[in-house]
Amino acid sequence: MSGVRIGIDFDNTIICYDKVFAAAARQRGLVPDEWTGSKTDVREYLRSKPGGELAWQGLQGWVYGKGIGSAEIFPGVADFLDACRRSSAGVCIVSHKTRFGHQDADRTDLRVAARDWIRASGLVGADNSALTVNDVYFEDTQAAKVERLASLDLDVFIDDLADVFEQPHFPRGIKSILFGSNARPGPYKAIASWAEIQHEVFAA
Ligand SMILES: [Mg+2]
Repeated sequence: MSGVRIGIDFDNTIICYDKVFAAAARQRGLVPDEWTGSKTDVREYLRSKPGGELAWQGLQGWVYGKGIGSAEIFPGVADFLDACRRSSAGVCIVSHKTRFGHQDADRTDLRVAARDWIRASGLVGADNSALTVNDVYFEDTQAAKVERLASLDLDVFIDDLADVFEQPHFPRGIKSILFGSNARPGPYKAIASWAEIQHEVFAA
């Protein structure tokens, strides 16, 4: 598929915070010492406790800001981007990300932190990067995110949140791929791994 235009969400689609959330929650004494779990497990654990929502928001602000350096790229993303480059596909990142986190006294700029991570990961700025700094968009609201991806005239959009695809103004012409499994039925195709997404986009 040459010349195809592909948009990708950032948080929990390209970047995986699971280990950072568990480690930060242990460090803050929010979960028992030996506790392990995914980001979703941390959220559910904290929200089941009194004051857990505030603790969760504080943790999120730290993980998406100062803690982002320990986050990992999902397996298969780099290969997918290589395939995009080989196929001359246009790639952009479109993310709903506020500039500052809730409950973050440090006021860390989350967009700067994310851009630093993107550069450090070689997603932009390297000789073989599939995208440039100008292909990375952070929007204040989910509605603005959908407007952005509509304006980019995309053929494919990949996101871990079903809500995005269910927005009434989400452009129906875009091939919608939900990164994840156990999805409820909706206007998207749920695919659990980046290797399978690559097959879906480039070999289907
Ligand atoms: Mg996401």
